[in-house]
Amino acid sequence: MQMKIVFATGNMGKLREAQGILGEGFELVTPAQIGLLEDIPETGDTLQANSLIKAKYIYDHTGCDCFADDTGLEVDALGGAPGVHTARYAGESKDPDANMDRLLSELEGRTDRTARFRTSVTLIIGGETFFFDGVLEGHIALSKSGGRGFGYDPVFIPERTASGPNTEGLTLAMLSDKEKNDISHRGKAMRAMAEFLKNR
Ligand code: IMP
Repeated sequence: MQMKIVFATGNMGKLREAQGILGEGFELVTPAQIGLLEDIPETGDTLQANSLIKAKYIYDHTGCDCFADDTGLEVDALGGAPGVHTARYAGESKDPDANMDRLLSELEGRTDRTARFRTSVTLIIGGETFFFDGVLEGHIALSKSGGRGFGYDPVFIPERTASGPNTEGLTLAMLSDKEKNDISHRGKAMRAMAEFLKNR
């Protein structure tokens, strides 16, 4: 039987990835599909706080089972920035190219480029709240490569791909959806959520 659940996102790249990760057992519904069109304010100062704000907003307005995710990119040479400010790193427009350009310019001349993506997922089911996390280790490329994925994918080189160490230096934007989902921060957090729901 399919489980119908609201995924608090308006990002079609994320929706496609989540559907690929969770598989056919889940029917994902977006807030827009149930008439919630406003941008949910992300005012928390941690990823978990922001994913909770988004999920709670959906639950409070609809009473539906739902989940939300929030992702941050932590760059060691920048003291963990942009972190919770990842989406708006280059301003309110949340433009991925401008965000990557700022990141590349902040790291110009740096050889220490290690970084990680971290995702926090909040699930609200039957009124109860649960949290799941996923991390992907890697480093920031010297320039953008690849046309797949979304967000910062063209500048993020994961340490490993599903087949072993990433010796070719492929960015996430050079991997197929499945190859990315198998290793990604979001893949890990959402598979943990799916496993939890299956055993519930
Ligand atoms: P949020 O989870 O929508 O808040 O995402 C925060 C920021 O991280 C946005 O700029 C996204 O584009 C970026 N982001 C989230 N997930 C990914 C990913 O899987 N790859 C690259 N960028 C991502």
